[in-house]
Formats: sequence, structure tokens, C-alpha cells
Amino acid sequence: MKLIFLGPPGAGKGTLAALVAGLYKIPHISTGEIFRAAIREKTPLGLKVQAIIDAGQLVSDDITIELVRERLAKPDAAQGFILDGFPRTIPQAEALAGIVKVDAAVNFEIADAEVVARLSGRRVCKGCGQNYHVSFMPPKAEGKCDKCGGELFIREDDKIESITKRLEVYRAQTAPLIDYYRKNGKLTDIDARPASATILDSFKGMFPLA
Ligand code: ADP
Ligand code: ZN
Repeated sequence: MKLIFLGPPGAGKGTLAALVAGLYKIPHISTGEIFRAAIREKTPLGLKVQAIIDAGQLVSDDITIELVRERLAKPDAAQGFILDGFPRTIPQAEALAGIVKVDAAVNFEIADAEVVARLSGRRVCKGCGQNYHVSFMPPKAEGKCDKCGGELFIREDDKIESITKRLEVYRAQTAPLIDYYRKNGKLTDIDARPASATILDSFKGMFPLA
């Protein structure tokens, strides 16, 4: 199954993608996570993109497309994958169409006010990247990762100015992809408001395991 997860920041795409990837045994490819890993490891790519990402802006199409092209060429992506956070612009979607044929684009629907509530409470593990939320998904011990004991921190782009910027960028550059995939007959809308376990259940109904 080759899937794209579309939707505003904070819609819970990453959380659901991780669950679906585990269940369907396909890789979860998050461009945001790949960039953040590069920033953590201070690679040349990481150094190049850090300021752009912290400000809530988009990395250039050239860099992002090349990154995804390389990732999709790896053997584990041959049978299926979830692309989480890519494509984010029409040029990225057009480039993707030249790389691989996707089965569906899943569009996570949620209001801006809910996005702000979710992102401003998000905490991320320094060690393994696991996400938490201070009220909706708190860790067992405050400030500490359940999985690896790592310290939790607030993403620079989850500060309020960057959240506002990311929503603006989403409306201007990414939301047009909803129509793009609807016209292709590939779009499936999903209500992003319920808990991720509930969304996973509706997902299983829409995309039954073979
Ligand atoms: P979000 O939580 O906003 O959905 P992601 O983790 O998907 O964020 O991405 C974080 C940041 O990484 C984005 O705000 C952007 O700067 C950069 N990024 C991720 N994917 C892309 C992409 N496909 N094109 C350009 N920039 C991207
Ligand atoms: Zn951790």
C-alpha cells in the first residue's frame, strides 16, 4: 500500500502514520523527521535547513524532492510506504508522480484552533523523537520519555509565532494538494479530531489489510 498523508501541522498525521506503519508493516517516511534527525546529527543537510524549519517555513522543493527520491529507492519502500509530510507543494506532488504511483492520499481534517491547542502542548523526546502532549498524551513521568527515558523538549517550530506561520504556509502551499488529489480520484478524507486509536479503527475499515 502506497499512501500519502495530507493535512495541517498538528493533525496527528505522524502519530497515525507510526501506528499504521507498524500494523501494515510498511515504512513510515516523514520528511520532517528526516530533517530533524539531520539537524540533531549536524549533517550538512541539517545545517542548511535548520533556520528555515525553526521559522516554520518550507525547505526548498529541490532539496526535499531529492531526499524523498533517495528514500523511496531503498528496498524497504518497494512494497509500500506512508509518506508523511510529503508532498507539501504542487511541484513536489508533480515530482512524486514521476517517481512512483501512489494508491491514495489521506486528508486529515481539523480546524486551526485545534491545531494551535495541540501543537502548543506538544513535547518531543530528545533521544528517540517520540511525541507527547502535556494534556492529551502525557508521559508517565513528567518531562521524561516512556520509551527511552530521554528528556522531553518543545520543538522550536511549536512556539506560537512558528505555529501561525506553519498554518499560513499550509493554507497557501499545501492545501491546494487536496484538490489536486481529489481530481485524480485518490483523495480520502478522514476526521482528525478523535483519538488516534479511533482514527486507526476507521482507517482499518477504509484500507483493510490484505
Ligand atoms: P508538521 O508537524 O508541521 O506537520 P513536519 O514534521 O512534517 O511538521 O515538518 C516540519 C518542518 O520540516 C516543516 O515545517 C518544514 O519546514 C520542513 N518540511 C517537512 N516536510 C517538508 C516538505 N515536504 N517540503 C518542505 N519542507 C518540509
Ligand atoms: Zn525517547
